[in-house]
Amino acid sequence: MATTLKSWIESRIKEDEITKYMENGRDFINDEEIWEKIEKNKNPDPSWIREIFQKSLEIETLTPDETAALINVDDPDLIEEMKEVALKVKLKVYDNRIVTFAPLYLGNYCVNNCLYCGFRKDNHVIKRKVLTEEEIRRETEVLAGEIGHKRLIVVYGEHPVMDVEYMARSLEIIYDVKVPVREGYGQIRRANVNAPPLQIDELKILKEVGIGTYQVFQETYHHDTYNKLHPQGTIKGNYQWRLYCMHRALEAGVDDVGIGALFGLYDWRFEVMGLLYHSIELEKKFGIGPHTISFPRLEPAANTPFVQETKYKVSNQDFEKLILVLRLAVPYTGLILTARESKEVRDRVIHYGVTQTDASTKIGIGAYSDRYHEQELERQQFMIGDQRSLDELIRDLAKMGYITSFCTAGYRCGRTGKCIMDLLRTGKEGRLCKLNAILTFKEWLLDFASSETQEIGQMLIKRELQEVKQTMPHVYPKLMEYYRRIENGERDLYF
Ligand code: SAM
Ligand code: SF4
Repeated sequence: MATTLKSWIESRIKEDEITKYMENGRDFINDEEIWEKIEKNKNPDPSWIREIFQKSLEIETLTPDETAALINVDDPDLIEEMKEVALKVKLKVYDNRIVTFAPLYLGNYCVNNCLYCGFRKDNHVIKRKVLTEEEIRRETEVLAGEIGHKRLIVVYGEHPVMDVEYMARSLEIIYDVKVPVREGYGQIRRANVNAPPLQIDELKILKEVGIGTYQVFQETYHHDTYNKLHPQGTIKGNYQWRLYCMHRALEAGVDDVGIGALFGLYDWRFEVMGLLYHSIELEKKFGIGPHTISFPRLEPAANTPFVQETKYKVSNQDFEKLILVLRLAVPYTGLILTARESKEVRDRVIHYGVTQTDASTKIGIGAYSDRYHEQELERQQFMIGDQRSLDELIRDLAKMGYITSFCTAGYRCGRTGKCIMDLLRTGKEGRLCKLNAILTFKEWLLDFASSETQEIGQMLIKRELQEVKQTMPHVYPKLMEYYRRIENGERDLYF
């Protein structure tokens, strides 16, 4: 195994799948330039900031200078204005919809040694496991049949036991599970993937199986910090192999890509700028930016002292600001807030333009079907902060006026990639999706909700139907026809 593992590791990085995208031998993150922009735009003029707000409201990507100016806003009144604009941008692009999902970890084997991660290979306190086909099926049955999830983010480690064949097979199993529930059936309709950087040919295989978003976080965009935290000689130690994985994915035909940074490894202001440069680069090269941006904060992990020692820990105040800046800087993108954050934090920042969040989250390997309740640090990557069930979260969101959408129609009828970017920019996606949000929310209430959630959810649906009747009278009769058919037991009807 030792030599096979070694040769597997050595075969992973294809230099030509990095260099082909570089310009003059450099990548698109210029550390000095980023710091210069942050310094140069200190104390920005409030009238300029308000012009920037207007640009965001027109759903245009901001420039690095404009983003740096927003990062430097400290005036509490302007920050309050920023919150209002962030919510308006979100409503314009995504309406009052929130998408929910659950992470599904398939294994915790890893050949890398990221200093901040509980799964790093030298961390011997971790119990290692990779799910078998049968176990993947069981986990999916609980997620789709009992909890009622329709979307997953399936998480893989970098290791030959979770190579691309394993990934493809596991996705086939996940899509294959169909569980009878109260009136309809439970099924995963979109499996997004969080995986290590892959090669172009491998990404084509995943595209064939039908992945949703391909998500990889750069962790930190700062070159020196990256090299310190990811030991050289490991696959992950190669900054550019990771940086260009979204280029490879888009070249392979994957429709939606998700980028992210792990906040707490380096200065948050730099990371926000890195995410912006990444978005601009993808827009420039492929005419399509990130489908989603993730901004996880570092959490405690078993036997991982780095987490306590980092000097870049992000305060709640800075965390709120970074979400606002991201919302305004890349106005069309989805923003993912995870259950790493506490309920209190999530309840507050959900109004700053977040579009997706997870619930009923368990990140221990096999934890959904094992049915243990306490978090066990030895089998999970880090601790999660909000353990609310999907039912509770949906109820809490409905109380705040947000409708949980289980719609995956866009993905299945080609509203993805560049096409969805245009729809999002013009606000058309928000309107189309409102109809599907109502229908899928109704399905969910019938099939999974507790009586308390049904009651609150039904009140929200009533308001939504009223709104469609007034703003889109031409589609209202068709919507009501689908709505009745769903009440009578039909499922998966969409516009
Ligand atoms: N192993 C793959 C990789 O590194 O790309 C994918 C899975 S990894 C389990 C998913 C993400 O978890 C990483 O990209 C990293 O951002 C995040 N992560 C690692 N350690 C963390 C910690 N201590 N707290 C919060 N998030 C962490
Ligand atoms: Fe492995 Fe990913 Fe954890 Fe790094 S972050 S040690 S690559 S699982």
